[in-house]
Amino acid sequence: MGRLTCALPARQSARVPGSAAVERAERARWRNWAGNERAEARVVHARSVEDVVAELSAAAASGGRVRPIGSSHSFSAIGRPEQTQLVLDGLTGITVTGDGLVTVGAGTPLYRLNAELCRAGWALTNLGDVDRQTVAGALATGTHGTGAAFGGLATQVRALELVTPAGEVLRCTPEEHPDVYAAARVGLGALGVVTAVTLQAEPAFALHAVEGPGRLDEALERFEELMTSTDHVEFYWFPHTDATLLKCHTRVGLDGGLDPLPRWKAVWDDEVLANAAFAGVVAAGRRVPALVPPLARFSARALGPRTWTDHSHRVFVSRRRVRFLEMEYAVPRGEAPAVLAELRRVHAAGDWRTAFPVEVRLAAADDVPLSTAGGRDTAYVAAHVPAGTDPGPWFCALESIAAAVGGRPHWGKLHGLDAGALRERYPRFDEFLAVRDRLDPTGVLANAHLDRVLGPAPGR
Ligand SMILES: Cc1cc2nc3c(=O)[nH]c(=O)nc-3n(C[C@H](O)[C@H](O)[C@H](O)COP(=O)(O)OP(=O)(O)OC[C@H]3O[C@@H](n4cnc5c(N)ncnc54)[C@H](O)[C@@H]3O)c2cc1C
Repeated sequence: MGRLTCALPARQSARVPGSAAVERAERARWRNWAGNERAEARVVHARSVEDVVAELSAAAASGGRVRPIGSSHSFSAIGRPEQTQLVLDGLTGITVTGDGLVTVGAGTPLYRLNAELCRAGWALTNLGDVDRQTVAGALATGTHGTGAAFGGLATQVRALELVTPAGEVLRCTPEEHPDVYAAARVGLGALGVVTAVTLQAEPAFALHAVEGPGRLDEALERFEELMTSTDHVEFYWFPHTDATLLKCHTRVGLDGGLDPLPRWKAVWDDEVLANAAFAGVVAAGRRVPALVPPLARFSARALGPRTWTDHSHRVFVSRRRVRFLEMEYAVPRGEAPAVLAELRRVHAAGDWRTAFPVEVRLAAADDVPLSTAGGRDTAYVAAHVPAGTDPGPWFCALESIAAAVGGRPHWGKLHGLDAGALRERYPRFDEFLAVRDRLDPTGVLANAHLDRVLGPAPGR
């Protein structure tokens, strides 16, 4: 099998043009979680909506560029600042009302929101597998978890407060500025700076977790049955093996009591095996690539079966200490077994070494224009490589296999598509673009990555 090629964008130069410093703003270096994106920019910490209005108005008047940032957990250059980086860490309040509506400052990290909701007897319906992201950052890229009947975080939004590049503060709901509301639930940070979000939480619940080894063959043969066998199902396939790690999480009431993992077991599984030992596996595989297949077999067997019940957010979320790069494609659910079978075939035919597993999850169709699950029941297929290595052939394989079934890349993860290709994959792409062109005609919020995936603003 020949080497697959695709156009992952080259990393851009670390230096960016300067702009006049204002009070409280300093130039600082920035890097994302995986370390593959770096920049130097003028950094402004917003403490109020007025700070955001002032910053955007000044940039609009002077032709400047502003990029809001959350926890920098995106792998793509979507949050990369070119002149000014706007940090929302001063906008972090949480207010929960009796009906489970929670209004949260845009810069609040999810782990703080989860803890606060839990204390008040509420929980978010579904979560991704880490909780370090900010609410606005997670929403901007379409962050999702797994569950055939459940949507991503965007489907839990009920209202948004957004400062437009012109400095106008919009409260957006299905009734007020409905087109902005619809688009801004997965807004890529391209429509305005979100300052607050109202989410619909639900009464706190627990998840009963049944986790253990499985086989890829079986997962592909019985994909639909397996992935819909309970509320939140996902599996990891370890390339070089037929082994999977299957996680089945069932929603249960808190009145049945909790049965959390004993502390030593949680530390052993999640800190020692999933992080420390796995870091050793990855490091050994980087030094001696021939070791990767046997190490992958070791990793697949290391985490044995376990059963436990805990608060939902504690089960949804894991610790990820080993840094990696990720590509994730959303494909029509019915196509997932064929996509995975082809990925396995291409992997077996190539000679690349992959210690990281491929993660497979589901989401229900939603009505958000740029949601990866917009208008179709979706399966997610994610590939990973160690941070600091070249993902080229492995990610290109996934990208070209997903292309054959209209796959949509996660907005916060690596991919090589541009606006032309993405328009083909998103029936409502032009609807989103019309809102962007109206709210940010001169590209105050743009950066080179957004210019690639959306096309440049009309007046730029
Ligand atoms: C270890 C790890 C695990 C992950 N697990 C998952 C997962 O399970 N599921 C999943 O879907 N994704 C996952 N991701 C991806 C991650 O959820 C997204 O990239 C998310 O966008 C990161 O949130 P953040 O706060 O770090 O945002 P950043 O990366 O800082 O920013 C992302 C985007 O949001 C914009 N933005 C930030 N704040 C605002 C604001 N106030 N207004 C407007 N725009 C704003 C930025 O400009 C940028 O475009 C994971 C990433 C990592 C590193």
